[in-house]
Amino acid sequence: MIDTAALRAGNRRALAKAITLVESLRAEHRAEAQRLLEALLPHTGRSIRVGISGIPGVGKSTFIEAFGIHLIAAGHRVAVLAVDPSSPVAGGSILGDKTRMETLSREDGAFIRPSPSQGALGGVAHKTRETMLLCEAAGYDVIIVETVGVGQSEYEVASMVDFFLVLMLPNAGDELQGIKRGIMELADALVINKADGESLGLANRTRQHYQNAMNLLSHGGFWVPRVTTCSAAEKRGIAEVWQMIGEYRQGGEASGELAARRARQNGEWLRKLIGEMLEQRFRADPRVRAELPRLEARVVRGEITPYSAAMQLLG
Ligand code: GDP
Repeated sequence: MIDTAALRAGNRRALAKAITLVESLRAEHRAEAQRLLEALLPHTGRSIRVGISGIPGVGKSTFIEAFGIHLIAAGHRVAVLAVDPSSPVAGGSILGDKTRMETLSREDGAFIRPSPSQGALGGVAHKTRETMLLCEAAGYDVIIVETVGVGQSEYEVASMVDFFLVLMLPNAGDELQGIKRGIMELADALVINKADGESLGLANRTRQHYQNAMNLLSHGGFWVPRVTTCSAAEKRGIAEVWQMIGEYRQGGEASGELAARRARQNGEWLRKLIGEMLEQRFRADPRVRAELPRLEARVVRGEITPYSAAMQLLG
């Protein structure tokens, strides 16, 4: 049993136990986790949820450490959750190693949780959504969700946060940064890190380049995505990022767009879960399990079309 009173009072052990429960794949744990989440739901949602993405080496952990320390000094409580797209088979977690964010992890006001193991419904980020709610109930008022800028995980993180920030290197060339147009469209801010030393001039030119690109992408609404520079190593430009997020929050609350964004995200999450649960049930059906290999072989041999095989299985 999870001690919800202790969790709500900010007890770390209770929070960690609750997260372990939510991450568990066992059916009876799922049911208990859902009861817990429902009990805590009235106490969630009061944080600002910030997604931070960027290619390996861009300075995510350095940035989050500096940013987190800044927030804690200002009286906030900060939870850092990681969504790690790497498979355990392919060399393990990129984000999970404990040497990252050492200073921040020693702070009383900080809670750092590496990615859960995978295999759950709802993609790699599913557990992170629920963990985020637990952290909110435990009184963390800034939730940072970190992910490596490769693949699907960015979309998943963007779809669970209020503000999605992409860290970039001083290097005005989209190809060099592996930046896809889709990621630019998701970003509420691009922050060019390592704007220090010899890179300062290049960082400013990069900022100009991306600001022009972002202005073209802007699609109305209360927020025009911004491009800023910072040096996580020298701790410059960090306070400005928090200031920017504050302005975003103010505008989003005043216009109602922040609440609308969260409502939209919940709807999308529900639809996604329904789709995955249906598929899981379908695949678990004994008749489907028996017929699928046989029909697949016939499709491969060109005897029937994929469409009619799918229709037969669904029938
Ligand atoms: P991550 O892989 O995105 O988490 O990146 P890290 O935070 O581990 O940083 C990668 C490397 O970049 C490390 O050697 C950092 O010391 C360095 N680094 C991070 N931020 C800055 C910065 O603002 N300026 C400079 N010059 N180096 C930085």
